[in-house]
Amino acid sequence: MIVMKFGGSSVGSPERIREVARIIGSRLERKPIVVVSAVGGVTDMLISAAQKAASEGKADTAELRKKHEDIITELGLDRAIISELDSLDELLSGIAQLGELSPRIMDKVQSFGERCSSKILAACLEKQGIGSRAFDAYDAGMITDDNFGNAEPLPEVFEKLGALSESPVVPVVTGFIGKDREGRITTLGRGGSDYTAAIIGAAVDAEEIQIWTDVNGIMTADPKVVPEAKSIPRVTFDEASELAYFGAKVLHPKTIRPAVRKGIPVRVLSTFEPEKKGTVISIESEKDSNPLKAIASKKRITLINVVSTRMLLAHGFLARIFQVFEEHHKPVDMVSTSEVSVSLTVDNDEHVDEIAEKLKHFAKVKVMREKAIICAVGQGLSEAVGLCGRVFTAVGSEGVNVHMISLGASEINLSFIVDDKDADKAVKSLHKELLE
Ligand code: ASP
Ligand code: MG
Repeated sequence: MIVMKFGGSSVGSPERIREVARIIGSRLERKPIVVVSAVGGVTDMLISAAQKAASEGKADTAELRKKHEDIITELGLDRAIISELDSLDELLSGIAQLGELSPRIMDKVQSFGERCSSKILAACLEKQGIGSRAFDAYDAGMITDDNFGNAEPLPEVFEKLGALSESPVVPVVTGFIGKDREGRITTLGRGGSDYTAAIIGAAVDAEEIQIWTDVNGIMTADPKVVPEAKSIPRVTFDEASELAYFGAKVLHPKTIRPAVRKGIPVRVLSTFEPEKKGTVISIESEKDSNPLKAIASKKRITLINVVSTRMLLAHGFLARIFQVFEEHHKPVDMVSTSEVSVSLTVDNDEHVDEIAEKLKHFAKVKVMREKAIICAVGQGLSEAVGLCGRVFTAVGSEGVNVHMISLGASEINLSFIVDDKDADKAVKSLHKELLE
């Protein structure tokens, strides 16, 4: 049994949906359970329709309707399968009248995306002669807490959803949505369909969970920066987590944790190149000839250098620094310390000036914007003698200046800071030196 999750771009047009049905049809012997996202762009459209209803008093579903109806017409399906859009009309009218939009109602509005896409895909499968049935995830057992907009499935879902494995036809389940104990619709947070897939995979003890996207797995570098970048056959969960921060945007590892915890491999594949093997994410590391898996970078980072105005780092100094970041709920990404100074990086500029002002009460502070983090990721990094030398020789020979270095405690991530303008150059030179 496998779980196959298809994201919005995979079901973004009639052609893509037909292709997805074909891909599913060619894997029936593996007993697929399908999880599907809303048609590409629909969740965003639903959110803005709800906001518009609340702020301008206008309930307008014409565009959303058209998007789905065009697909249905083109696929030759029955319009009645999306008749629930009528209740979306009512819901939006209600919002428009009240001029108010609660997180709870927002979740209900968003649920229509997956509720429609699942019915379309199931009908398309049926039309191709593949027995199928659409499920709203909550009817199959997806019960969550009531943290609307970011709900967490309750422990009993693993037992409840297990019944999906008994379906005589291919179940097509809505990603992203659930219901709380009171029966109110919830969502698992943006991009939550991956989470749905992982939970269902864990519930039915799938042999594999497949995340079908528009890229052939996780790449050794951003192909826009490094045309030579290749798909990585295997990564560990920890490596994938490091890469996710760098916008290897394929999926958020947090969302696949339920699967990985049970030892179920998660494979990322492309519906555009379905014959390719993609990338498998699994818990165990495997001995690999190349200790490095990928080079990633993140631009527009701000570096904050904090120098103790006393001779040495007094005790409590670090605590005071982090206290200031804490007060502003500001996550710190990289940290490196010396005897008298601390360097930290943050993702964006928000609150940085206020933070710097506060730090100046007890330290000298220098804020440096327009920096980038470059990161080499690989489970074998800790054992690879001489690798650091090769890394810095490679970037140095390109004339790139390094501002800060950190080898994470997990020892699977060697990160350093360069000027933003040098980031691509650094990534290219490292990829060439270490991965080509
Ligand atoms: N449709 C939802 C979103 O756009 C969930 C998903 O695609 O995973 O965030
Ligand atoms: Mg997604």
